Amino acid sequence: MPLPSLPVRPAPATRRHLFGLTLLSSLALLAGCGSGDAEAGSAPPGPSDTDSPRSIIVLIGDGMGAAYFTAARLHKGELAMERMEVGGLMDQRSATSLVTGSAEAATALATGVRTYGGAIGVGLACPDLMAADSAAMRADPAACDPLEGVFDVAHGARMSTGLVASSSVTHATPAGFGAKVPRRGWQAEIANQYMEGPIQVILGGGQGWFDGRRGTFDDDRLTPFCAAAEVDCLLSVEEFEAHQPSSQRRLVGLFAEDGMPRYTEGRSPSLPAMTRMALDVLAGNPSGFVLMVEGSQPDWLGHANAPFHEIAAESADFDDAVEVALDFQDQHPDVLVLVLSDHETGGLALLPDGDSLVAAYSSTGHTGEMVPLFAHGPGAMAFGGIRDNDEIGGTLVEMVRRIEVANR
Ligand SMILES: [Zn+2]
Repeated sequence: MPLPSLPVRPAPATRRHLFGLTLLSSLALLAGCGSGDAEAGSAPPGPSDTDSPRSIIVLIGDGMGAAYFTAARLHKGELAMERMEVGGLMDQRSATSLVTGSAEAATALATGVRTYGGAIGVGLACPDLMAADSAAMRADPAACDPLEGVFDVAHGARMSTGLVASSSVTHATPAGFGAKVPRRGWQAEIANQYMEGPIQVILGGGQGWFDGRRGTFDDDRLTPFCAAAEVDCLLSVEEFEAHQPSSQRRLVGLFAEDGMPRYTEGRSPSLPAMTRMALDVLAGNPSGFVLMVEGSQPDWLGHANAPFHEIAAESADFDDAVEVALDFQDQHPDVLVLVLSDHETGGLALLPDGDSLVAAYSSTGHTGEMVPLFAHGPGAMAFGGIRDNDEIGGTLVEMVRRIEVANR
């Protein structure tokens, strides 16, 4: 059994070794029982700690503390993410609060920099710039202390990028990866940045933020955008189901005016189906890709203090998207898959109720506990153990910088 060697980003060795060895031992046990995916007759492959990935898939279960993962596991029996080789916990705090919101959480994960509440891809100097000249920042929101993020580095490396979400694609988490604005509510501005920018695949809800039904602009910017030759626009489930994805074109699919329906309300296309189509497009770029997939609505159900079965079904749907990513990784071993939450919502506890469990909440907001994190594929070991959210983001940016050097 090889010991884990140095990670991409050095961290205290004792902490990493303890964690890595524990997980490696579990992996060896699994392999010995024949349920692991190790090659027969050779030592089971340890977590791929020295290799750099060529592509990265980040899946974020918004609001999912450990209780949400537990509910999903009870619902499904077994989670796809149990195949992942490295685990850990992430400290979710922001630069200004012990309890983060999704905007600044996504910004930390996408850029490696903790920032203020509501910030989308921008740093701590932005509020002062807004106070000094809000008209200028309105006119050019990306000028408000922009932070270089993993998508920016990827674009410089000729890599493709993609965003998939079951909320509006302009909502906090996808926006933290794909846009730069001072306030998360500026979703129409975020939509404009998506249309003007290089992100190749955008799938989810939020049509209204593009076509003038929502936000600060009355005009429909979506129709002229979709008329362009190099973009495929899918504006209904039927168009999604009939679509033959092409790696040579941009793909923008918007299936609700704002957020998509809940899983238990029959959301379509499903998060795993959107994830699969995104990968079909992105896989065609020989320089690699970065894809962010958000299971957006565990958070919304937590805010609503929803019953156990809804939490379980929504969280299980997120795991189904993880399964799509892991199946893709099986076929493309140079892909790193990272699964994590951005924060916990609702202070959810699962309390005994006869032979089953009921959801009990201590809050209708976010809570400050650490959240689960899993990694699989080349570079996975860099994410094991206890990590800060900005440390995760810094490692992602550094990994994509390495790909950029390799792609030169
Ligand atoms: Zn929330």
